[in-house]
Amino acid sequence: MSNPRYDAIVIGAGIIGAAVGLELARKGFKTLNVDKQPAAGYGSTGNSCAIIRTYYSTIDGCAMAFEGYHYWRDWNEYIGSDDPAGMAKFIECGTLVMKTPHNHHLAAAMRMSNELGIPFEEWDPVRLAERMPSWDLKSFAPIRAMDDPKFGTASEDALTGAVLWPKGGYVNDPQLATQNIAHAAQQAGGEFLYNAEIVEIRATVDGRIAGITLADGSHIDAPVVVNVAGPHSARINTLAGIEGTMKIGTRALRHEVPHVPTPPDFKQERFAMVTSDSDIGAYTRPASGGQILIGSEDPPCDQRQWVDPDNFDRQLSDQARVQVMRCAQRLPTLGIPNRIGGVVDLYDVSDDWIPVYDKSDLGGFYLAIGTSGNQFKNAPVAGKLMAHLIESCENGHDHDEQPLSMHLDYLDRDIDLGFYSRNRAVNKDSSFSVLG
Ligand SMILES: Cc1cc2nc3c(=O)[nH]c(=O)nc-3n(C[C@H](O)[C@H](O)[C@H](O)COP(=O)(O)OP(=O)(O)OC[C@H]3O[C@@H](n4cnc5c(N)ncnc54)[C@H](O)[C@@H]3O)c2cc1C
Repeated sequence: MSNPRYDAIVIGAGIIGAAVGLELARKGFKTLNVDKQPAAGYGSTGNSCAIIRTYYSTIDGCAMAFEGYHYWRDWNEYIGSDDPAGMAKFIECGTLVMKTPHNHHLAAAMRMSNELGIPFEEWDPVRLAERMPSWDLKSFAPIRAMDDPKFGTASEDALTGAVLWPKGGYVNDPQLATQNIAHAAQQAGGEFLYNAEIVEIRATVDGRIAGITLADGSHIDAPVVVNVAGPHSARINTLAGIEGTMKIGTRALRHEVPHVPTPPDFKQERFAMVTSDSDIGAYTRPASGGQILIGSEDPPCDQRQWVDPDNFDRQLSDQARVQVMRCAQRLPTLGIPNRIGGVVDLYDVSDDWIPVYDKSDLGGFYLAIGTSGNQFKNAPVAGKLMAHLIESCENGHDHDEQPLSMHLDYLDRDIDLGFYSRNRAVNKDSSFSVLG
């Protein structure tokens, strides 16, 4: 066997892969991130809405997200040195979430925020009307498909209020943020190989990882390989021969994000916030050039599109139009362009929409997968988590027998990493949606 030049190979250079490479390199591992794309952040990360919010359905989800918020706030400190390509910016505009019966009027989210010290403000309908004068505050639930004769019809009810989490917002350029992390990893000695597709994952006869083989036939060996392949995570697990060995599976879900101009009466500087509205099944995010990005919260009436990650339609469809029309229910002056712009990309969805950050049954092969459309914000914390897990397991710790914990420095709180186990029971507290 050849002598490995690397201590660890990270498959993927998206935001999570780059962060795993960075934290391993900072611990002294000789790392190589390998990506078939030409640069960092060119996979699904590049089309992320990059929303930074702190409300999830579980306390562990909220804790990780609030810890993650601090890294975006202190971005330059985390990266450590100025990237000549420029630095990504965190726009802290706040995140406003409608209270609905669907989310139990946010009772659990507020309780968990109180427990973690995450500030929030409750807005009653009067305050909501004052702060968002161009909104129609009627309730439109249940969310309907466009061919439903009652599509767009308001009910007798009105929204009961909203909650503003001021410590939140979005990152202006997710690709640049990833390149910033890759730059920091290189400063720490990490290497990146682009335009290189992994076609084989090799193991030793005694069941440990040996290395990877690229499409050009070259072999790269390392005692540690980490699957951070985003929507290709299940493919990579198949290459590693571990499919069927874990209780939680992952698969690629197609997702459309239309971008539309904000209406003239909706002044970005005054009203621009991230919103999440389960009454119309949409989330929105302001963007440069006076645009609004509209994502779907995947209501049951919209068919989920599970796809082959190497063969899916990148054109927007009627799904984008229905998302814009639902948003126009809340914001009636929103124009609905004939030709709608936007992006189509894939979530790597786990069975319970909570990621898998874990080891695997193949010694030396690790998993940071199933990010389910909601882990961009957590990338810096996920990088630390994985580096801690890999270092501990390589030093002989049995994480399956005795799940590790990790200290969240900003929150001064420990989290149990067993929460992210590949062999957990499906988490019934999850929203089973992009909200995690
Ligand atoms: C439309 C959209 C909106 C989103 N909005 C948000 C949001 O607002 N907030 C939030 O927190 N999260 C959001 N997410 C989720 C978030 O963006 C992802 O969780 C995150 O970007 C995943 O990063 P990653 O590094 O795991 O994957 P990726 O960025 O997909 O990186 C995986 C990399 O692996 C490479 N790769 C795969 N197979 C191979 C192979 N065989 N050989 C070599 N390289 C390979 C790919 O080329 C790719 O670059 C969104 C996602 C999407 C798609």
